[in-house]
This record gives sequence, C-alpha cells and structure tokens, in this order.
Amino acid sequence: MNAETLERIKEECRKLPAEISYIVGFVRKQSEPREVVAVLKPDEVDKLSFSPLSFNNPARTVMELAKDNKVAVIAKGCDARALKQLEKEEKIERENLYIIGISCPGVIDYRKFRNTVKFRLAEIDSVELIGDEVVVKAGGEEQRIPFSEVIFENCLYCEQPTPKDYDVLIGEPREGKVDFSDIEEFEKLSAEERWSYWMDVFSKCIRCHACRQVCPMCYCNECLVDPSNLAVSPMTPAEEKAAYPRVLGRTVNAADNLIYHIVRVMHHAGRCAGCGECERACPMELPLRKLERKLEKVVYEVFNYSPDEEIPFLSKLDILPEG
Ligand code: SF4
Ligand code: SF4
Ligand code: SF4
Repeated sequence: MNAETLERIKEECRKLPAEISYIVGFVRKQSEPREVVAVLKPDEVDKLSFSPLSFNNPARTVMELAKDNKVAVIAKGCDARALKQLEKEEKIERENLYIIGISCPGVIDYRKFRNTVKFRLAEIDSVELIGDEVVVKAGGEEQRIPFSEVIFENCLYCEQPTPKDYDVLIGEPREGKVDFSDIEEFEKLSAEERWSYWMDVFSKCIRCHACRQVCPMCYCNECLVDPSNLAVSPMTPAEEKAAYPRVLGRTVNAADNLIYHIVRVMHHAGRCAGCGECERACPMELPLRKLERKLEKVVYEVFNYSPDEEIPFLSKLDILPEG
C-alpha cells in the first residue's frame, strides 16, 4: 500500500469498460491523512487516493449504487468478501460490478496511529506501507513506524486478504489463514469470568448503533433491536404499531445492551465479512470483533462453513442431514 499501489489503481481506472458509470474508491480527507469512501465519475480518476489508512469498507455504498448502475469498486479482501455476501443475498448483481481487487497486507488502526505519529494530522503529506514499516512524511520530514505497532489487530487474523473474486488484481496474492487462537485463549477463562467480561463491555455500550450503521451486512430497513427505527408515521394504524416487535426498550442498560449485541451477532452468523468496521466505528472502543469472531469459530467448527463459500450460510443449514 504505497504510491505504486495508487498508481496501479489509477491506471486500471483509466481503462475501465465504457459501461461503468461510477467508481467507488477512496479519496483523502481534507484535514487528515486518512481516506474515506467516495463515489467518483470515471473522468475523476485523479481524485483517487489509497494508503494503509484506506480502512473503510465500500460495500454499503456499492450496494446502493449498483442497483441501477454499473460500478467499479476498489476492494480489499474483506471488502470483496462483503460484496460476495451481498451478492449471495441478492442485494448486488455481480454483472453490475467491476472489482479492482487489492491484495491487502492489513490496514492501520487509526487510534494507534494518532497516538504514535509525531506530526499534527493536518500536516501529514503521505502515509505508505513500505516493507514492514509505515513511512509518514510531513513538510520534508519523515517518521518510520513498525507496522506491527499500528496494525489493526483484526488484520492479524485475516482469512481473505486477497479478494477471491475480482476483475483485476493489484499486488501479488496473499494467503489468508484460519486462526482463532485469540478466541481459544479467551475460552480458557471460566464461564463466570467471561460473563463478567461481557457484562462489563455491554454496560459501556451507549447503543448509538454506529456499529450497525457501518456494517455492510446490517441492511434491514427496520432493525429488530432498534425500537427507534421502526417506520411509524402519523398515519400508521394503532394495531400495526402494536404488532411491531418490541425486543428491547429505548433505555440503555447492560441487560438490554446484551440483547442488542446477541441479536446483532446472531444475525451475522456465517455472514460477517470480518472487515472490522463495527469495532472501528464504536465511540466506546468496545471489542466487537471478539464477539463476532467467537460466532465465526462456532460456524466454522460446527457447520464447517466459511463466508467464502459460494452458497449462503442458511442454504447450508437447509442441506444439513436430519438429526
Ligand atoms: S481484514 Fe484482511 S483484507 Fe481487510 S483490511 Fe485487514 S488484512 Fe486487509
Ligand atoms: S457502536 Fe459501540 S457504543 Fe455504539 S451501539 Fe455499537 S457497541 Fe454500542
Ligand atoms: S459485523 Fe463488523 S466485521 Fe462483520 S461485516 Fe459487519 S462491520 Fe464488518
């Protein structure tokens, strides 16, 4: 993820098939060195940027745009995994996508980065990953940070750093791995210790729903565990309102938060792309990937299923032998 990667991305975007209406890629934020997901026209290639701080997942944006357009998308392994899930769930048609895959060495944890970098964020000219160092340049000065000090921990357990499905791939393919050693370590704690750990985590959640809002797999119009987003208008009949599910209340407490998180994670069984957007978005810095990864482990071990399979998880359940 260096200047050469960006040049290769631009090169591929300059020769896109004529039917592509938009590019969903990354542009740099104005006053920070990180990128954000952006929708560009094919003649706006020069606005593209890419670095180890292009950590966001563009799948949600693509899902909306690709309903009526053919879209080129810059996709890391986990981004492509989310696109594949959405395709399996008939939210995206593959023929509307042109995937420029990035073989991904991992992205930077922005919280760690902000605590490590010596420059003011607005002063930073570039951030590149060169070998195993993050090279930060600002006003003619340079700081080199070992990647291991600022890598997003989630990337250490990445199963799919190289997109499985792409139209063009940038970078040499990288091998992923199935590694649940972090979860196995956690499982060694007693049931009481794990309960206490999670109740402590859930008691800190303010149920802002940011983790749900950023998740490419949370696309329901009405969320079962968010009473504030049920579609109610002055015209909604009382009996319809009464029929709405009330799984939990509007109050924020550890018990209701527990339900929110259990329902959310269960709805991701066999679907989570492993991008870590939920954890990055959480203002309380809660370890949301740990919960998702526990479920991934169960799905992997009990159902022998990984989200990279071509069939949706629920279809897999349908074809399980009786008993
Ligand atoms: S989870 Fe994998 S593909 Fe996604 S950013 Fe991390 S290393 Fe890259
Ligand atoms: S983003 Fe964090 S605080 Fe907000 S609902 Fe999710 S877990 Fe709770
Ligand atoms: S649950 Fe988190 S890691 Fe999984 S797809 Fe959603 S945002 Fe990505």
